[in-house]
Amino acid sequence: RPRVFSAMQPTADSLHLGNYLGALRQWVALQETHDAIYSVVDLHALTVAPDPQALRTRSRVTAAQYLAAGVDPERSVLFVQSHVAEHAELAWVLGCLTGFGEASRMTQFKDKSAKQGAEGTTVGLFTYPVLMAADILLYDTDVVPVGEDQRQHLELSRDLAQRLNARFGPLVTVPEAHIVKATAKIYDLAEPTAKMSKSGNPSGLIELLDDEKVVAKRIRSAVTDTETVVRFDPVHKPGVSNLLTIHSALSGVPVAELEAEFEGKMYGHLKVAVADVVVTALRPLRERVAELMADPAELDEILADGAARARVIARETLARVYDAVGLVPPA
Ligand code: ATP
Ligand code: MG
Repeated sequence: RPRVFSAMQPTADSLHLGNYLGALRQWVALQETHDAIYSVVDLHALTVAPDPQALRTRSRVTAAQYLAAGVDPERSVLFVQSHVAEHAELAWVLGCLTGFGEASRMTQFKDKSAKQGAEGTTVGLFTYPVLMAADILLYDTDVVPVGEDQRQHLELSRDLAQRLNARFGPLVTVPEAHIVKATAKIYDLAEPTAKMSKSGNPSGLIELLDDEKVVAKRIRSAVTDTETVVRFDPVHKPGVSNLLTIHSALSGVPVAELEAEFEGKMYGHLKVAVADVVVTALRPLRERVAELMADPAELDEILADGAARARVIARETLARVYDAVGLVPPA
């Protein structure tokens, strides 16, 4: 079976609807056809200087959301990145193959460093895509399900894999991005031209673990436009189109049918319907997360088992790479 690897950063108390529709839901589906490895990338989260206690809690709650969404720890490997030391080790080797200019062209780095200012921008934020490449290449990954925002980082992972293979002989699999077009980019409700993001504006976010009233209120307050027609047109009607995308992704009703259903109706009707679909979809997920968090021992056991399984593969890859680049093997 082809191998799938993907991960999210534990940078918030809850994942959001973009993470769910753009990535997590694909992860669950891919378990049927792929050998799946999913990680909570806590080393990546250090790039935003999190509070230590918050980071620990967020790592567990992120894993709990994977499980609640349907990641099956029997079939798939689920682990926390820092439990497998090889990620940081391979990242060093890959960093030595990455051009400074090449890394400087990453748009996420440009955006995030502009927000954080020169003082707040760390070397870790700069080398983040190199660590991401290590995450992926360690497992000889064939497919990486991600949202549109990760396309450029995935391209770098592919370039690094090809470079490693070209310079040192065939060593690692060159990964492909798996981006599902319809849900590749869920937009911020309050600013529907920006991507919904954990580090974005709270009023534009739908968090999976948010209170139902808060979710409904944020959807009711979603920015639309001054027309009155419910029509899918991302360029001219980003807000309405985003609501239609969300509804369709969760209800399974095609966008064209939704347009027909809401013909002649006001935006308020659409918002009520979207709020209903979202709240209904998230309720069981939230309940399962609460159960899992009530017994962290069970969760920690799943993560320990996942790390042990991941380590077996990661060790083998790293040994191969270390040997090929000329590091002296330990006696
Ligand atoms: P941060 O602001 O901390 O970068 P994030 O919301 O971008 O948070 P990540 O942990 O960086 O979340 O990304 C996890 C996964 O979710 C990635 O595969 C990413 O492509 C996907 N993703 C993030 N935001 C969206 C979005 N708005 N629409 C679709 N997919 C998204
Ligand atoms: Mg991100």
